[in-house]
Amino acid sequence: MQLKVTLTKVFIVCFLLLQSNLLAQRNFDDDQIESMKARVSEIVIENKKLSQVMVDKIFSFSELGFHENESSNYLTGILEKNGFKIERGLSGIPTAWIAKWSKGNGPVIALGSDVDCIPKASQYPGVAYHKPIVEGAPGHGEGHNAGIPLNITAALAVQQVMKENDLEGTLILWPGIAEELVASKAWFVRDGLFKGIDACIFTHVSSNMGVSWGASSGTGLISVEFTFEGDAAHAAGAPWRGKSAADATELMNIGWNYKREHLDPLKRSHSIISDGGDQPNVVPSKSSIWYYFRDITYEGIMEMFETSKDIAKGAALMTGTKMSYKILGTAWPRHFNKSIAETMHKNIEVVGLPDWSEKDQILAKAVQKELGNKSLDGLANELRPLGLPVERPVSGGSDDIGDVSWTIPTVTLRFPSNIPGLPGHHWSNAIAMATPIAHKGVTAGAQVE
Ligand SMILES: [Zn+2]
Repeated sequence: MQLKVTLTKVFIVCFLLLQSNLLAQRNFDDDQIESMKARVSEIVIENKKLSQVMVDKIFSFSELGFHENESSNYLTGILEKNGFKIERGLSGIPTAWIAKWSKGNGPVIALGSDVDCIPKASQYPGVAYHKPIVEGAPGHGEGHNAGIPLNITAALAVQQVMKENDLEGTLILWPGIAEELVASKAWFVRDGLFKGIDACIFTHVSSNMGVSWGASSGTGLISVEFTFEGDAAHAAGAPWRGKSAADATELMNIGWNYKREHLDPLKRSHSIISDGGDQPNVVPSKSSIWYYFRDITYEGIMEMFETSKDIAKGAALMTGTKMSYKILGTAWPRHFNKSIAETMHKNIEVVGLPDWSEKDQILAKAVQKELGNKSLDGLANELRPLGLPVERPVSGGSDDIGDVSWTIPTVTLRFPSNIPGLPGHHWSNAIAMATPIAHKGVTAGAQVE
């Protein structure tokens, strides 16, 4: 413990990349660099209360993608109070913003994280069984309430140290709006948000602390909604006059599910019927089905998309309906920067995992038990090694940070604010997210960042 505290004081690093670039210009010696890093860490720890309040506030707002109004107002308010200039409505998205603070020239570092939540995941924090705060309401069942509070905590500490030591540079913060819909980052990239930025540090909640470089596990995707339009009619009185759009949706669903048998196992696809018609006695004149098509390569994603269009055309032909489609979101597979990841991993080893209390562990094990997990190991006690490029591709989820990672040097810092072994996108993933588990993970993550 003593060793850990001492090391933390001496070595804790915030924005090592930024610092080392800046410090190189000024020729600071190692001791001076270390003492500035220690000061950054000290400020992060002093701001523990602020981090906790921010994490809990965003948890309480629990806003779905594109509805992050209160969350965005609150977070930009804090940044504004601390001298950041805010630009709102980025890329025509009302809840999107960018916050900038500059001191002279020097490197420009962007810190990003998501902020939206999950439908029907409302959950009381700290309660180890399903207990919604509001029945049926959205909730932070992914833990996106913690990432921007972490970035703000880190940014305020670095800002202070830059002022104290007359260091030059620019800090930028930005939100991954509607990440669950993979709907904003590609727009930000296309609209030039990342032009002139030297590097991006992205943060995402996890049950351990880690960073990786090169090709990451997981997929990219295209999110597309197919809509069929037919003709309404009295479903009992004159069904022969109707053309059912819902029939087209069902046929497309059947067609794609036959295709699914022949997909490479790395490919993933899932869908919901977003409009199944209005009521049984009216032949549905309009119906929609919404797909995520995922693969580990761009070519694979596009191949699935092309096939899906053919299946949709077939469904329209069979039912005499008209088909159209709308792309709702996209994400490239992720590829992260080696030198930032290696530097960050050294910081991770120095900071280590939080000191979990007995109560933290009891809650974690109770949640694992409630979910029927085989192992009831509680919270992570051992760091993982630096993540290397995946040798054999691994399928899984996507994040539109992939688009940013192909644009400027980027890494994702995974920070330990949640309980291991949970299903994800689920009410149980919200339980820890406004408790000391989340707060401690954010403080540790901000020290690393
Ligand atoms: Zn996420």
